[in-house]
Amino acid sequence: MLNVLTVPAFQDNYLWLIHDDKHAAVVDPGDAAPILAALEEHRLSLAAILLTHHHADHVGGVPDLLRRYRVPVFGPRNEAIPQVTHAVSEGDAIRLDTPNLKLEVLDVPGHTRGHIAYFASEQGWLFCGDTLFAGGCGRLFEGTPEQMIASLAKLAVLPDKTQIFCAHEYTLANLRFAREVEPENLAINTRLQLEQAKRDQGQPTVPSTIGLEKSTNPFLRYREPGIADRLLATGHLSDREPIAVFAALRQWKNSYR
Ligand SMILES: [Zn+2]
Repeated sequence: MLNVLTVPAFQDNYLWLIHDDKHAAVVDPGDAAPILAALEEHRLSLAAILLTHHHADHVGGVPDLLRRYRVPVFGPRNEAIPQVTHAVSEGDAIRLDTPNLKLEVLDVPGHTRGHIAYFASEQGWLFCGDTLFAGGCGRLFEGTPEQMIASLAKLAVLPDKTQIFCAHEYTLANLRFAREVEPENLAINTRLQLEQAKRDQGQPTVPSTIGLEKSTNPFLRYREPGIADRLLATGHLSDREPIAVFAALRQWKNSYR
């Protein structure tokens, strides 16, 4: 029986520990200290490191963890992360014995050029780094809107109940933007209230689910005619073509506050 521990780090990052009460695999350890503390607190031994992309807040803790634990490091084949021992890309399956975990690798470029996601189909868990967020998506630092559209489309076809373990607590700001973009979508308001209540109690809003994202996340809903209407009406768009709509949405979000 596997569980996932949420380990907050920095301002708004979540690092994830997948564990069986003895052994753990960590996803995107940007900082080693909170991971080492969580391992000690829960009496877990680190067995593997899984990386989604090369940004420092996702890989920064790897050297310190390796000093303490000699474990395999899985990471994107198309990014140069020096500590990676097992470079993986779409079509690869990862099988860990301890904890007993099977993961499928998906290529989800856009935020970075080689970004990957890990999908545990048995558990219905998706670890997607900075690609899909609760209510939003990652910024396009290295990829194109077309790439991000294709990456999000891969994630959107996973089962609705799939839990999304993304790497940041950006949910409230994302949903405020979603409400601006789709003021008539009542699901967004309902969700905003629920997520606000969680934050008021100091709880994470992550994991989300694919089903919830499909009903409230504008970056999965950019083909809704109302979104193009809104972008046109607010001067953010001149052309209803879907890639242009997605690009305009991402652009608007970058400057929205
Ligand atoms: Zn990133």
